[in-house]
Amino acid sequence: MSGSILKGLACCAGLLLSLSPAHAGIEGEGRHKFLKAQRVKEAPIIDGRLTEAIWSEVAPDDRFTQHFPLNGAVPSMRTTIRVAFDDENLYFGIEAEDPDPAKISARLARRDSRVDSDFVEFFLDTRHNHDTGYWFRVNAAGVLADGELHDDSRINYDWDAVWTGKAAITDSGWNAEIAIPLSALRFPSSPAPQFGLNIRRGIRRLGEIDQWIYAPRTSSGTLSRAGHITGLGGLVPKRAIELRPFSVVRPSRRVSSRQSEASWQFVSPSSYVSPPWRCAVATWKYARIMPSLRTQRPSMLSAKAS
Ligand SMILES: [Zn+2]
Repeated sequence: MSGSILKGLACCAGLLLSLSPAHAGIEGEGRHKFLKAQRVKEAPIIDGRLTEAIWSEVAPDDRFTQHFPLNGAVPSMRTTIRVAFDDENLYFGIEAEDPDPAKISARLARRDSRVDSDFVEFFLDTRHNHDTGYWFRVNAAGVLADGELHDDSRINYDWDAVWTGKAAITDSGWNAEIAIPLSALRFPSSPAPQFGLNIRRGIRRLGEIDQWIYAPRTSSGTLSRAGHITGLGGLVPKRAIELRPFSVVRPSRRVSSRQSEASWQFVSPSSYVSPPWRCAVATWKYARIMPSLRTQRPSMLSAKAS
């Protein structure tokens, strides 16, 4: 193993140690609020209509509380959520009931524009550290927006993932159907993963915000107050192969007495000083990528061998 890889592993270990106590700071209703996700055999067609049979297998949850304008009051319209998953995606089905569907504000806009309209948005803490995660929003016209959450409730809107979400206006309101590829989400391998969750619905004409997790209006925490998705047993992290410019992966090959052994080395450009966390990420990605390349693409590793 080369010195640069050892250095990478050392700073990776340091990173893990610094992250481990991050579960602190959990407060409010979310501590004891759970929603059970259901593994499904067939993927739903993402069209905004929850007509697939699989949705009837998933337990609904409509325990929302009004956040604004009447903090803590019963929402003026019912919202029901369902969470499902398979080996590829996490699925959300939302029914946003509305007695007057003609008044639903469904404005079209460019992706990532938080246009003033009826919407649902998700705060997802897949690492379950109550501090970092993802934000996904779909409005009643199916306009998508996303971002990465850090420091509990700050959103980096520059983050873009490849995911699918559609909305449809129905006789009883509007629905949203969402598929988020597991490859877009970072979460640790665990026999029983648990994700932090909050969901918020906006009803534009009433100026109303309803939330799955109640929070006093004076509070500022988001992920620190999140509830939890359970029932995710068997969910396995999938990593998209993603190489960033701060490190260079160079395949090389050492020849031992009986068989050759492929190895990769990270080569930091001499003009670039890589911060420790980037170095850790690079090493970690190396560890994740290598087994799949070994089994799926042996020709890639031996291409430069001779
Ligand atoms: Zn938690």
